[in-house]
Amino acid sequence: METLTEKIRALPKVELHLHIDGSVRPKTVSELLNLPLPEVEEKMMVSKETHSLTDYLTKFDLPIEAMQTKENLKRITKELLDDLKEEHVIYAELRFAPMFHTKKGLTQEEVVDTVWSSMKEVEGIQSNLILCCMRHDIENGNIHNFETIELANKWKDRRIALDLAGDESKYPTILFEELFQKIRAYDLPFTIHAGEASDYHSIEAALSFGAKRIGHGIRASENSALMEQLQHNHVILEVCPDSNVDTMAVLKKQDHPIFQLYHHVLVTVNTDNRTVSQINLTDEYRDLIELFHFTWDDLKKININAIKGAFIDEKEKQILYQKIEEGYHDTTY
Ligand SMILES: [Zn+2]
Repeated sequence: METLTEKIRALPKVELHLHIDGSVRPKTVSELLNLPLPEVEEKMMVSKETHSLTDYLTKFDLPIEAMQTKENLKRITKELLDDLKEEHVIYAELRFAPMFHTKKGLTQEEVVDTVWSSMKEVEGIQSNLILCCMRHDIENGNIHNFETIELANKWKDRRIALDLAGDESKYPTILFEELFQKIRAYDLPFTIHAGEASDYHSIEAALSFGAKRIGHGIRASENSALMEQLQHNHVILEVCPDSNVDTMAVLKKQDHPIFQLYHHVLVTVNTDNRTVSQINLTDEYRDLIELFHFTWDDLKKININAIKGAFIDEKEKQILYQKIEEGYHDTTY
């Protein structure tokens, strides 16, 4: 008999919010940096000793150290797409901040070109790239952020999208208007991390910049007028339940507002950082069923929402809709 987990793993899935550096195989980092695996695992994964967002953010140090050469970037990108294929992700948008990968002399341009080209070499999964601008770069006058935006514009034919990530409580979203003026002027697709570590005003700021997609956005559940605005504008929320518990945006998974959000706005479910949180989509979906009583139809709906929000054209979306329709045909479990 097929178990529930096996049935869920076999479902076709779409993932929109996934950081490459938070999803590197520990074994790979151990090999590349020549460090013992147990030490690497302890440094890359959250544990009972992780007490704050600051602790959480240290989990990215080792993988970023390993992602400083073209060869390593290529291996890590391909391995992540292989991991996604294992659980039948049919379309994924991978994201990372190129400015973190220039410590050994690579330029942002070389970093982005390497990751994008590696993604396109992997068959059996469709993928697109999102580049993260970082909030702390405002201390440098956003010089690296503007460089990242210029790259996305230079390679417009590659359909590279943009994002804003980093410490939202320290550097409020509203401070980044000039970045999004530029992104809008170039007519580039974008999403913004907002309403995770900071309150719903962060989401309001992201919407004022024209965001049609919000990373997390869970604090919208605190404001009914904002929920209506999200619904009215068909804004897609990239919700990552396990990650929200690990960053202490939500205290217990059972308390996550996913159920309320799902019934009011266009919710998608994502992993955020697979290694840091030791999570995959199969486990996230199983929790949706077991903790929040999602049905097979609800799982289908979150995938349809993800396709609606995907940074691809309508023709490609139709192909994905068809695959989801077929994959969720059998609604019993
Ligand atoms: Zn994220």
